[in-house]
Amino acid sequence: MNENEMTSPGYEIPPELRHQVTITTLERIYNWGRANSLWPMMFGLACCAIEMIATAASRYDLARFGMEVMRPSPRQSDVLIVSGTVTKKMVPQIVRLYNQMAEPRYVIAMGACASGGGPFKEGYNVVSGIDKFIPVDVYIPGCPPTPQALLNGLIALQKKIKRQSLRDLPWYQKGPAEPIPVPVLGPDLMDPRKFALIREVTHRQAVQDQQEGEVAHE
Ligand code: SF4
Repeated sequence: MNENEMTSPGYEIPPELRHQVTITTLERIYNWGRANSLWPMMFGLACCAIEMIATAASRYDLARFGMEVMRPSPRQSDVLIVSGTVTKKMVPQIVRLYNQMAEPRYVIAMGACASGGGPFKEGYNVVSGIDKFIPVDVYIPGCPPTPQALLNGLIALQKKIKRQSLRDLPWYQKGPAEPIPVPVLGPDLMDPRKFALIREVTHRQAVQDQQEGEVAHE
């Protein structure tokens, strides 16, 4: 937030008080504080994580944005940077970590893999984007995205936060937030929200196999 925004809340400030008193709205000052103290989770999945590590080092210096405090615990983190290839084996852990983060919480899909599967999209063990499971706020293209691209994504997230209203945000509404059901890794990755569909398709396939078996025996 620049000085002009801070000092233009829509109220007339008497000339003698200008440059001595700042008037702003609760929403603006709250969003300004939140946007400039995002603590990322110390968490990486593959090659993109190396670029994330470089972004936190001295050359690019995340500290300028109040984001240098990478936390090793979801309980103390504000932003989950999904940096790398999302395998089916890792999805339950990522969803569990997301559920354990306190609100307000944000997610950045860093790189082609986290955004849509990337070069491994057709792989048997890779999901085509983490947004199939948790809500994503900012997507960063690239394979891998450069540290500058990650910084740009973080600035985009800051802009998004500054536009948010306390009245609409889901975490300030009445009632507890519902956790996202943790997917189950069996023969394949199963999303609990799709259990009814999986059961129906499996049953239909079993009936079809049985009918074909009966025909073959006749
Ligand atoms: S997007 Fe490219 S650099 Fe990033 S994890 Fe996937 S393959 Fe690696």
